[in-house]
Amino acid sequence: MSLATNSVKELENTQTIRGALKILIDVMNGPAHERLLNLYMVVVLFHWAEHIVQAYQVFLLGWPRPDAGGIFGLILPWLLKTELLHWGYAAFMLAGLFLLAPGFAGRSRTWWLISLGVQTWHFIEHSLLQAQAILGTTWFGATVPSSLLQIWVPRVELHLFYNAAVFLPMIIAMYYHLYPPKSEAPIACTCSRRRSPHHK
Ligand SMILES: [Zn+2]
Repeated sequence: MSLATNSVKELENTQTIRGALKILIDVMNGPAHERLLNLYMVVVLFHWAEHIVQAYQVFLLGWPRPDAGGIFGLILPWLLKTELLHWGYAAFMLAGLFLLAPGFAGRSRTWWLISLGVQTWHFIEHSLLQAQAILGTTWFGATVPSSLLQIWVPRVELHLFYNAAVFLPMIIAMYYHLYPPKSEAPIACTCSRRRSPHHK
């Protein structure tokens, strides 16, 4: 078999993989968008609720910060203290924002992309934390693994802020995705509550 034939085969393979990925992304942002978004939002809401509980534990109950790990922190404290868990969640959140973005259009798209932008930075912060955990060192003159903006703001407050800054634009995006302005053209998914005969 000649080199040329091999290259052609390789090219065809790449195109098949690319084609398959395109179909997958289209399905995720078309017929499956509503279900995937619902699942994603349930996970996001649970995580957000945990940050609210943590803030309650710290600011209203006056618990020491290392003990304030939300409800999950009471059940599996050792797991909550692993940086990998937080990194994994940040990665999941970023992947969801990225993969489900093509399904958003118009005004909802703008807000979804703002959320994606903030989460990208939040993910970099968790990657810095994870790198310190892996290397067994601490940066930015701190005694524990620290994210960059922790130079100015303590971890609980900072990550409460990060999660709020990701969550609020996401909620606005969801609102405009479910109730798009009438001037916007219909989209490929079934999420919109405005296209009545087709949906519910
Ligand atoms: Zn949708």
